[in-house]
Amino acid sequence: MSYTSVIGLEIHAELHTNTKMFCSCKNDPEETRPNVNVCPVCMAHPGTLPVINKKAVEHVLRVGSALGGALAWEYTEFDRKNYFYPDIPKGYQISQYAYPLVSGGMLSGVEITRVHLEEDTATSKHDMSEYSLVDFNRGGVPLMELVTEPVIPDAETALSFAKELRLLLRTLGASEANMEKGQMRVEANISVYKEGEERLSGTKVEVKNLNSFRVVGKAIEYEIKRQIAAREAGEEIMQETRGWDENTGETFSQRKKESSHDYRYFPDPDLPKLVLKEMKNEFDLELPELPWEKRERYTSRYGIKAEDAESYVNFDEMGVYFERVAELLGGDRDRVKLASNYITSDMVGLNAGRETSIFAAISPEDIAELVEMAHAGEISSRGAKDILAHMNEKGGSPKDIAEREGLFQKSDEGELGGIVETIIAREEKAVAEYRAGKEQSLQYLVGQGMRETKGSANPGVLKKMCEEKLG
Ligand SMILES: [Zn+2]
Repeated sequence: MSYTSVIGLEIHAELHTNTKMFCSCKNDPEETRPNVNVCPVCMAHPGTLPVINKKAVEHVLRVGSALGGALAWEYTEFDRKNYFYPDIPKGYQISQYAYPLVSGGMLSGVEITRVHLEEDTATSKHDMSEYSLVDFNRGGVPLMELVTEPVIPDAETALSFAKELRLLLRTLGASEANMEKGQMRVEANISVYKEGEERLSGTKVEVKNLNSFRVVGKAIEYEIKRQIAAREAGEEIMQETRGWDENTGETFSQRKKESSHDYRYFPDPDLPKLVLKEMKNEFDLELPELPWEKRERYTSRYGIKAEDAESYVNFDEMGVYFERVAELLGGDRDRVKLASNYITSDMVGLNAGRETSIFAAISPEDIAELVEMAHAGEISSRGAKDILAHMNEKGGSPKDIAEREGLFQKSDEGELGGIVETIIAREEKAVAEYRAGKEQSLQYLVGQGMRETKGSANPGVLKKMCEEKLG
């Protein structure tokens, strides 16, 4: 019996702001000393009042705008999500429920349900034997939550969605979104259904605490297989929250899922309702070039390979480098394509053995010069690689290196004339065959010329001269 899986994602990202969501404590994800960025507001002392962080609101509006979602200009509010846990000192988390900042939108072909703003919880440490510790530095840090529609078919699509979101958050400066540091946290709601059953009829299982992209992929794949196997064995799928065990490579049951009703959401009476249209011009909603726009520009403007464009979009240093080389080459498609090959294959290859980045060591000007030389046929493609290797080892301009190492191709017809004469006189058989119409014989003659000059001749020029002589 064949099954289909349906996945919805809930992704949290810590936003990049100077201060926390509702107080003036520093928002510093790098702080290692516990409980230093705390105050009566984020420690929930009685009588304190929260104040909304405008920058955090702006970040979420920018994300929503990039996703093409509807922004809540008319009305938005914050709600209390009530539950009791040591990492939430107020006994509730301030979040958004009925009126999120962003509704709808799309990323990588996946429909977005909503994007809202809330505060992060504190961090609990349970590794002590007799007690647990709580660090409130993270408590109250602005947290964005993005929820997708349950439309993702498999682990691979979920993974590429999460990666694209990380790229977007970084591009917008909204979050570092480093999963290993917990700045971006992915939860997946997974269900399966059988042929003939309704699409969302399967029981939804939530898998939490996926703290790297690798784990996101593995956990979703595992959970889909587990649910199918359970159903095949006639077992009922429980609605529950499961965690990921890295040691066993399996998901495990953590708790039965509360329904949202259990949180007793209600509007937070300590915070004002927001009519953002009244302060529209106080937000900077001008977006930088977005990752998908950049990909499109690279591939259509320069005709470079999609995987090259992907490297430039994902690795800033390489992207900036490529842009500069392209600019130096006047944006000429053939030259830029050639440059892109050097950057993504040769330079990346050489970079692997270096301590410092090759993109800092070799200037874009020198690469542009190398490309011009190769494009004009002054050096062979083999010669270009040799020059690059020299530049990597000792530096120097491509022209100087080509001169010193004798890598300029001989294109001077006067100089090559004697060699062409010699070959034609010597290779009688090949010459006769060529004259009889055998095209490959010309290649053979050019090859002889290359041999004669120890590879330093420009094969294009040799070919042309042979043709002229024999034509
Ligand atoms: Zn505080």
